[in-house]
Amino acid sequence: MRVLVVEDDDRIRDDVTRALAAAGYVVETASDGEDAWFRGDTEDYGAIVLDLGLPGMDGLAILKRWRDNGRSTPVLVLTARGSWAERVEGIDAGADDYLPKPFRIEELLARLRAIVRRSAGQASSLHAVGDLVLDERQMRAAVGGVPVSLTALEYRLLAYLVLNRGRVVPQTELLEHVYGDEDARDANALEVLIGRVRRKVGAERIETRRGFGYLVPEASA
Ligand code: CA
Repeated sequence: MRVLVVEDDDRIRDDVTRALAAAGYVVETASDGEDAWFRGDTEDYGAIVLDLGLPGMDGLAILKRWRDNGRSTPVLVLTARGSWAERVEGIDAGADDYLPKPFRIEELLARLRAIVRRSAGQASSLHAVGDLVLDERQMRAAVGGVPVSLTALEYRLLAYLVLNRGRVVPQTELLEHVYGDEDARDANALEVLIGRVRRKVGAERIETRRGFGYLVPEASA
């Protein structure tokens, strides 16, 4: 899943970026308000981590403009410690959750997983499609109770399709959420990756809709 991290403090931004990448996310960053607003308004992210105090345009103004433009991307805002006013304003502006600074990176990861799940209407970090079970916290999958060994890229692909199960995911969207802006991003590489994941979890679990995209069907029973 592709995540935008908006933070002008270099140290915090680097720490968060590193932790999110290690947790399997495709991470993009912005350090000023104008750039953040533009990216969030024109690009498709699975979630956004948004610092409120930014040069250019402040985080609350950015969030309000995204929401006014109909952007429903889950947003976790970073607020100054003890500033209840910022928390209230953030939630009023359309934040899905907030995290006061300083924070533990583990808490940021947990809150991010939670807002992504809530936006997808799912209550748990375990996702079952028939006997395929995806564990988001452990970043693992199992079929019929038997663990499947997946590379980071394979997991990212399977997780995105499973979180969007029942919906045909267009190839361009899948490319963005699996590869981000990496050079490796092309349709052929994606086909190969899908082939590898199919061999590991069962070919019938990922359907190809020619000209549209890919689908993990909801389990029939
Ligand atoms: Ca700041």
